[in-house]
Order: sequence, then C-alpha cells, then structure tokens
Amino acid sequence: MYKVSKYNIIENTEDGVLIYNTFSGCFLFVDNNKKNKIIDFLKNPESDIDFETLNNFLEAGFIIREDFDEIAELKKIYLSSKKNKDSLSIVVLASESCNFSCPYCFIKEKRGFNMKTFVYKSILNLIKKDIKRLKNLKIQIFGGEPLLNHRNNILFLKKLNNMIKKYNINKEVVIITNGYALNLKLFKEYLNEGCNNFQITLDGYPEIHNSLRYTETDKDTFKRIWNNINEIKKLDKNFKMTLRINFPELDKDKMIGFVDFLSKNFYKDERFQLYFRQIVDYRKDIKNLNICSKEDGIKNQFEYSLLYYKKAGIDKNKMAEYFMPKPISKWCDAGSENHYIIGADGLIFKCDVEIGGEEFGCGKLKDNGEVEIYSKTYHQKYSPYNRKKCKNCVLLPICQGGCAYSYKNTGKCFYTGDFIRKIMRDFHYNFNN
Ligand code: SF4
Ligand code: SF4
Repeated sequence: MYKVSKYNIIENTEDGVLIYNTFSGCFLFVDNNKKNKIIDFLKNPESDIDFETLNNFLEAGFIIREDFDEIAELKKIYLSSKKNKDSLSIVVLASESCNFSCPYCFIKEKRGFNMKTFVYKSILNLIKKDIKRLKNLKIQIFGGEPLLNHRNNILFLKKLNNMIKKYNINKEVVIITNGYALNLKLFKEYLNEGCNNFQITLDGYPEIHNSLRYTETDKDTFKRIWNNINEIKKLDKNFKMTLRINFPELDKDKMIGFVDFLSKNFYKDERFQLYFRQIVDYRKDIKNLNICSKEDGIKNQFEYSLLYYKKAGIDKNKMAEYFMPKPISKWCDAGSENHYIIGADGLIFKCDVEIGGEEFGCGKLKDNGEVEIYSKTYHQKYSPYNRKKCKNCVLLPICQGGCAYSYKNTGKCFYTGDFIRKIMRDFHYNFNN
C-alpha cells in the first residue's frame, strides 16, 4: 500500500517541525499542536489518518505507493536528460579574448581570438542537421567577452532565426557578458534578435569590483557597467537579466550595505534576478586575492541572498522558488551528449571551467556541422548511480551527483545535510510564518 519516501528531511524547530522532500521539492511546516500526530504517521503510513492529510502527503511525495521505486525513477530522469535527442545545447565562444583581465578567471589563459565566420556557419550547419527532430534549442553566447564579436553574433542570430522559423522549436538565447560594452543600443539589437536573457557579473561593491575588473584605460569599470544596467532598466520591455555578484573575502559590513543598495535599486523589478557567489580558485593558481573558505562562502552567499530578497519586495509566495533547492535532472550540461561548448576555432569542450585549455578539447566541429568527438570525457562517464554514497544519499534528487569536475578534483559534495537543514530553518523563520 503506502511507504515513507526515502527523501524526507525532518527538522524540528521551536514552534513545530519542518518536512522537506528532496524528490518532489515540497516543503511543509507543522505546528506543535499537530506535530506528534504527523511524525507518527510518517513512521507508520498505514496508521489511521484523515483522508485529507493522506491525500496531501501522497501529493507532496512524503509518502508514496508501496510499488513506487524512487531511485529507479530518478535514474530514468537522469539518463534521459543526459541522452535527450530532442534538445540541443550550444555554448558559442564568440570571443576567446577579453577586455578585462580578472585574476581568478578560469579562462584567463585565453587563446585570444574571436570566433571565425566559418565557425558560426558550421554551428548553423550543426543545428540544421538535426532541425527536424529538435524540440528545444539553447544557445549561450559566451567567451572571453562575447561582445568583442558583436557584429558576427548579430549576423549569426539573424541567420539562425531565419533558419528555424518554420519549425516548432522552443529556442532560448542567453548572453553572458561582463556588461562593459552592453549599452542600450547593443542591448536592443540582441533583444530584437530574440535574445532576452542576459547575465552580467559584478565583483562586489565598487571598490572591490574596480580592484579586480579593469581595462588598460578604465579603472572605474563599475560605473560604466552600472550605467548600462540602469539605462536598460528604464526600457519598458520584457527580458530577464541575471546579475551574478561575485565576492572574495571582503569587508562584510560594506557588502551588506551594497546588498541593501541593490535591493533598493531593483525594488519589485522581477526582470532582474540576483545571486551571490564566492570566487572559487578552480585551478589553484590565484595570487594576491583573499578568497573565502568554501564553508564561509556558502554561508555568506546565503546570507546576502536572504537579505536581498527580503528587502527587494519579492512576492513572499515566490520565495521558496529562490531559496529551497529544487529537484533536478542533472547538475549541469557537461555530461550531456547533446551539449557542446564550441571554441572560437571550432574546438569542442564539455565543461565551463576547462574552456580555453586546448588539452581539454574533446572534439572538433567540422565545416559541414558534423561533430567529431575524440573520446568520451569523464563528465560523460560520471554517474551518481555508480556510487554507493550517492545512491544512499537523501540529497540525490537535488544534486544528481553534483559537479563531475569537483568530484574528480576534490571528491567533495556541494551540499551537506547540515546546510540543507540551515536553509530550511532560515527559510521558515524569514518567509514562512
Ligand atoms: S554528490 Fe554528495 S550530496 Fe550529491 S548525491 Fe552524491 S553523496 Fe549526495
Ligand atoms: S562539471 Fe562542474 S565545473 Fe564543469 S560545467 Fe559542470 S558544474 Fe561546471
């Protein structure tokens, strides 16, 4: 009949109990009056309980039918998303050069050239080859700094739009830029070509940002990027702009003041989504920059997000979306068969932090759009379903084995049970009551 899900996390609080199911993403608070009854029911789902609670708990996945095999279902979701032939994800490294020289950039040993026109053409051929069976097409224009090749990007998008217009393809175009050159004129050109998703990175408050992100002639790049963002903000158009706020170890009081300033600037404007990330020394070669420990970084990133979303006037009902980790099909695209990061010369990579290093190139895009893969990469071979630790882990649905690169290089997990319990408590005390 019924059994308890393997993926419930139960956390007692002063005022009751929190239950979060990582498989369904459902989150529930039960107050002290009903707590014991619910806990007993979760120990024995065959016990007597009212019909409404039984139904709600089934729907939320806290209890499941006896014959439902959660792990088999998770594995199915994972494998089908890695091998999905209906979807194609392409990262176009429009320029492997940059106008900035951030000390921590994982592609700082840049190869230093813009994408050649024949490579854009080969990408179009690659899409054309599969066009009849494609349902989803995701294009991310990235670099280096992709706006250094702006004219060719726009030409590429025009040709792409023309090519797919008679097919029913769900297309998403994202541009990931440092924002320095993204003035209103350029922004509108991308928007006109169906690119309505932008990501810009700032490195903390102006003083820190300018010490890390500068050009040869401009030591106040924050000012220009900020002006660009605010000009764009005035547009009465729909788009999504993600601001990634990186932070090293810094003056926390100043950072909190900066978060407050950001929340006022973007108050109730949900076109702008902010997230905070510590700077990570992926290649273990950052000099002259203090970075936080992983533990402090995660703690701070959550604290800044909490502060931002509390003050930015975001609808309380949407808060769970921002805060509680969601069940996923895979951690990232690196292990997917139909995902290619295409270098400016057609060299193919699989993982974001390996781009630019020729030794990580795993294949080549030919002129006719065929992809020649030399050999499967470790991201493709990695599977949490081959690891006992992952198969027994309550976090598997929200992690799916995590980052293959981190696993190979550190063996560490991104999430821990303690961290998830902290998020549950923080979410409850800040937004859930
Ligand atoms: S990588 Fe770590 S957190 Fe993720 S499923 Fe495996 S053991 Fe759990
Ligand atoms: S494997 Fe890890 S580092 Fe590479 S793209 Fe995926 S999440 Fe990023």
